[in-house]
Amino acid sequence: MKNKNILITGGAGFIGSHIANELMESNNITIIDNLSTGNIKNLKSKDHDNLNFIEGDICNFNLDDLTCDIDYIFHLAAMASVPLSIERPEECNEINLNATVKLLKSAADNDVEKIVFSSSSAVYGENRNMPLKETEPPMPKSPYASSKASCELYLKSFYESYGLKYTALRYFNVFGPKQDKNSQYSSVIPNFISALLEGKQAEIYGDGEQTRDFVYVGDIVKANIAASEADYNGIINVASGKKLSVNRLYEIVKDTLGSDLEPKYLPERPRDIKHSLADISNMEKINLKIDSDNFESQLIETINWFKTIL
Ligand code: NAD
Repeated sequence: MKNKNILITGGAGFIGSHIANELMESNNITIIDNLSTGNIKNLKSKDHDNLNFIEGDICNFNLDDLTCDIDYIFHLAAMASVPLSIERPEECNEINLNATVKLLKSAADNDVEKIVFSSSSAVYGENRNMPLKETEPPMPKSPYASSKASCELYLKSFYESYGLKYTALRYFNVFGPKQDKNSQYSSVIPNFISALLEGKQAEIYGDGEQTRDFVYVGDIVKANIAASEADYNGIINVASGKKLSVNRLYEIVKDTLGSDLEPKYLPERPRDIKHSLADISNMEKINLKIDSDNFESQLIETINWFKTIL
């Protein structure tokens, strides 16, 4: 992608900043981010000639101004935490759904070429029909998941009503450099790495035999760019298509770091799902291939990044 005008909402966050940094050299990037969980330091240069960084909130910003002359939108700004959405469902709805509908309307009015939306495997919720296909019914277990599923429906309806092109990417468990380890809701890979680097016992909820489908943030960047360029309107799972147990993950992180600390097992969390695995056959619709054999080298890159911040 070259010489395009791109809007990235949530572009200072974990995933959004990786997309921004990848596209910044050859495109004009506008980012809107209220820095609620994002950090300007995630961007390779906030003063880059091709970057217009707006510290603002998508809930109350004039989105018509923002989408004017934009070719592609990568929409990532969201309340991205399941537990927080359970604590504050109205706020989740305001940010994740209402602001998205406003953004879609502005994008349609301003003839934006395409919007790529960051959805989530959370929409599958209780659905245990593994590997999960995009055609499975959503079974959300949280306001966060409902908001993402609702956005997907709005994207389809805007495509049908106004011709606004879209792809909704359902990310599974994303990991990589810049993932926030300080958030009380941070996920298992940053938790394991930071605990072991600090010489502390890592915590595992339940027996550790629960499995997840981990996907590297660099592949999420590729998915976003591929989706923007593809002639496909719909939903795509983005994952490795491989399951890894939390116990096995712990072993890999522990061995990579040369640690001999044993994990501390805590009671299972009632809302946690036991297994999550994607059917990734639809990724070819956006010409996306993810090499799932690189997990260990991607983990090493992630660990090396964590070493620089601890
Ligand atoms: P993140 O919290 O690092 O990024 C979200 C960004 O949006 C942050 O920079 C935050 O400051 C910004 N933001 C939040 N509310 C805003 C608002 N009202 N106005 C403007 N900016 C706002 O999270 P992330 O992990 O990078 O997630 C990015 C997107 O991907 C989210 O939509 C999330 O739901 C989705 N997603 C993430 C994962 C994952 O494993 N990380 C999995 C599935 C889906």
